[in-house]
Amino acid sequence: MSTIVSSSSSSAHAPSARPVPPLLKLYVDGEFVATESRFENRSPVTGEVISLVCEAGSAEVERAVAAARRALQGPWGKTVAEERAAVLNRIAAGIEARFDEFVAAEVADTGRPVKQARTLDIARGIANFRTFAELIKTASSDLFESRAADGADLINYVSRKPLGVIGIISPWNLPLLLLTWKVAPALAMGNCVVVKPSEETPSSATLLAEVMHDAGVPPGVFNLVHGFGPGSAGEALTRQKDVAAITFTGESRTGSTIMKAVADGVKEVSFELGGKNAAVVFADADFDAAVEGVRRSSFTNAGQVCLCSERVYVERPIFERFVAALKQKTEAMRLDYPDAEGVDMGPVISRGHRDKVLSYYRLAVEEGATVVTGGGVPHFGDVRDAGAYVQPTILTGLPDTARCVTEEIFGPVCHIAPFDMEDEVIGRVNDSAYGLAACVWTTNLSRAHRVSRQFHTGLVWVNTWFTRDLRTPFGGAKLSGIGREGGRHSLDFYSEITTICIKL
Ligand code: NAD
Repeated sequence: MSTIVSSSSSSAHAPSARPVPPLLKLYVDGEFVATESRFENRSPVTGEVISLVCEAGSAEVERAVAAARRALQGPWGKTVAEERAAVLNRIAAGIEARFDEFVAAEVADTGRPVKQARTLDIARGIANFRTFAELIKTASSDLFESRAADGADLINYVSRKPLGVIGIISPWNLPLLLLTWKVAPALAMGNCVVVKPSEETPSSATLLAEVMHDAGVPPGVFNLVHGFGPGSAGEALTRQKDVAAITFTGESRTGSTIMKAVADGVKEVSFELGGKNAAVVFADADFDAAVEGVRRSSFTNAGQVCLCSERVYVERPIFERFVAALKQKTEAMRLDYPDAEGVDMGPVISRGHRDKVLSYYRLAVEEGATVVTGGGVPHFGDVRDAGAYVQPTILTGLPDTARCVTEEIFGPVCHIAPFDMEDEVIGRVNDSAYGLAACVWTTNLSRAHRVSRQFHTGLVWVNTWFTRDLRTPFGGAKLSGIGREGGRHSLDFYSEITTICIKL
């Protein structure tokens, strides 16, 4: 299979070393397919076109779903867990064998530091396949023995079958990682999938299709359709009657639109949506660890992780000191090319997204915020000025009702507010339309447990952020999602369960 994207190198930053950008195709029924309609994929580092992408319309999506249905009825639908685990392990090995190409693809599409793509995106993408391969080999089923009213003994057990054709719609912020988080358990349970990655990040998904092909995944089991949401491949996928379920990660508003689209078919949904996550720093916290922790949780991936902390609450006795320390650390962050030595942060995903983030920076000032640091765009005096860089930004002084404190910005920005009482801060954290994640920084063990269990969020970290055992449930409350994925929760979602009761 051909290489589709090459890495940018700091020694060759002049735009367009490549005269004709590569063409990214769809993958349907075991074949790479070109379409007439194409769109440009631009580098957020320099703004140059890095690939042309074939857009799928309803006809291609319908073909992909039909191929998936046929594959379900073929030998794939009759595989056992052991066989599917072997396939997942071959896929993991296939990604590993092309590790550098995956890193280059992710870096080219997103502009993130190479180090992050290596240690987080691609490494965890591989881990997803291996984790679910292990899980299905050891997954057990419920079995209950009971007695009927007539005295006969009963055995009740649960049989799992594939749910069917799964529509997977994923976002741009952690492209391969979030895609594999759905593809791996869906295939593990014997489903067939039609995948629609974000239009902003088509490259690693295309490489994944090549890996599937080379790993001998049967035609129709994994299909890839590129395109946009409304009026394009995304919407077409949600309207296909033969799709059994939609698993979606993205904005809460898009989740709501998808829910309406699938309502008539009463399809199952699993939604991982937006957040407006809080970090709470108590005065008894390990101060340096908390400052570094909040820097990471606010600015990792240029603030474009659904779990990032955009609201920070700091206990009043250490408030001023904390703001000053975070300011110092933030100003020491290096914004640079993805492959530059010591780079901390790349651009945001696109010029369009940068405009959104900057509009919130302006709104914060209108709402009365103090801009502690940042608030604008960096100027490099080179090709990066045509990219989508934005300064990491710290705000203070806003009321909890300000739009910048209640709405998801999804950029490198946090607002820091002081608090006085434990109950008060729990109330303020929970007073949000979202409920994805929260962080607590404290050295008081009782407080850590007491506070964590009172948050209305799907996840709480104490004295850490982002790290997690893949077997634990992942997902959010309120506007942040529906359902949980991870470990057996994923296996439950991606299977149709039949209860069988036998009278002995
Ligand atoms: P988005 O909702 O704009 O797009 C996500 C995907 O949905 C893309 O593939 C897009 O093409 C598709 N889409 C858009 N409209 C559609 C429609 N009407 N029908 C079908 N598909 C449609 O989200 P984004 O900007 O790509 O991602 C950022 C958002 O994702 C943020 O809100 C972030 O918090 C959220 N997110 C959540 C999690 C989580 O686990 N909770 C993880 C990562 C990102």
